[in-house]
Amino acid sequence: MTVRTRFAPSPTGELHLGNARTAILNWLYARHTRGELVLRIEDTDVRRTVPAAEEEILRSLRWLGLHWDEGPDCGGPYGPYRQSERGAIYRDFAARLLERGAAFHCYCRPEVLEQKRRAALRRGESPRYDGTCRELAPAQESRLLESGLTPSVRFRVPPDTVRVRDLLKGEVTFDARELGDFVILKSDGLPTYNFAVVVDDTLMRITHVIRGIGHLANTPRQMLIYRALGAEPPVFVHIPHVLGPDGEPLSKRRGAKTLAEYEREGYRPDAIVNYLSLLSWSSPSGEELLDRERLIREIDLRRLGARDAVLDPAKLRWLSGKHIQRMPAQELASRLADFAGPEAREITEEDWAKVAEALRDRLTTFAEAREFLLQFRPPEPLVYDGDARSALAAAEARTVLEAAADALEMAPWTKTGVLDALKAAGETSGTQGRALYRPIRLALTAHEHGPELVDIIWIQGRDRVVRILRRAASLDAAPWGRAERR
Ligand code: GLU
Repeated sequence: MTVRTRFAPSPTGELHLGNARTAILNWLYARHTRGELVLRIEDTDVRRTVPAAEEEILRSLRWLGLHWDEGPDCGGPYGPYRQSERGAIYRDFAARLLERGAAFHCYCRPEVLEQKRRAALRRGESPRYDGTCRELAPAQESRLLESGLTPSVRFRVPPDTVRVRDLLKGEVTFDARELGDFVILKSDGLPTYNFAVVVDDTLMRITHVIRGIGHLANTPRQMLIYRALGAEPPVFVHIPHVLGPDGEPLSKRRGAKTLAEYEREGYRPDAIVNYLSLLSWSSPSGEELLDRERLIREIDLRRLGARDAVLDPAKLRWLSGKHIQRMPAQELASRLADFAGPEAREITEEDWAKVAEALRDRLTTFAEAREFLLQFRPPEPLVYDGDARSALAAAEARTVLEAAADALEMAPWTKTGVLDALKAAGETSGTQGRALYRPIRLALTAHEHGPELVDIIWIQGRDRVVRILRRAASLDAAPWGRAERR
């Protein structure tokens, strides 16, 4: 039997790390088993549907590098894959349940149901449908219909115990009497979530439902529908919450960061896939830095943790850096170019390759490269703060800057050539170590720290370096010296 999993987001907003994790687990498990992943858009709740959310969800999933075999964008044999386009299917299934007596028409007016609900709450009872329309005689029903009322369809809940077998939780039992006869088709003809999900999972031949633990409470209703349809329920895997720093499950409402934000901040998607997998289960090897192939090979639903996981932003950042270190050179160069600001306009392809290698081990996100890029392409003339300025104006520093400019002017322009020129400048000026490197770094970048000095020089290029060094060597110390006019 081919494993078929599904990710079924409601287009009510953008994806955050919590729902991304659900998508990732479904994808990994489908790939691990050489099965299929279905993407289904659950958009029957028209009031909550946000325009463009579906597009944004698909975009984020693609950014993560997930691929689905069937979905609203690519079709498939069990479509349509948007619930809003499956209305006739739900009505047909509701009709079958009505025919079998597993469901009934309910003509109760919403205001009356609401009054009864409030009354139950006042009595301290949990509100439940009171069965008013459960046993209507055909004559009564025709009269109600003639009076112009449009009924909803309710599931006739049997007075049973419902057992849900969950791969992580084991067997969970629910008393069906607690549920009350629930609506499966609203009077406007739209299905409710529990009904649509069972019809779809059945017709789409889903074998494994991997979803958030929040849905466990819905599962008994779904089990009853499977039973009434004579359909085989899938394997249920309800995964624990991902908690935010506030100890609450991540949610759109509580302002969880969206995937699009991580994308804008320049996280490596591989790191997000890796991190969210680690939040769910661990590799038997104990290793944490895992690429997609390893994750696919090693995912094991039985190893999924049963406890809520807490998001650790520092660890995610660390992993992002590790994944950046492993990127192929060209890809890294082109990602950095994507993230660069206007200062990088004149960087050639050749220079990008150099920049990528110089920064590879220093980044946790692509966006961080921006700050370093300014050191490779400083806007001229450089502006030095007071400390830097007085450091540069010291007599020894001036000698170093002149000697460096002289040596670099003649140096073969390779990294070794640059390094040799620096050594020569050290000898000419009688300095070494910090006394040699600090003024050069300050002069060229206006920063105390940054990428390797040799890389900075090599990538800035001879003309710029010599120009900047010579200018810095002739600066007065400000503010007490004669301020340079610009
Ligand atoms: N549409 C549901 C949600 O976004 C998922 C339902 C399910 O996985 O069964 O929470």
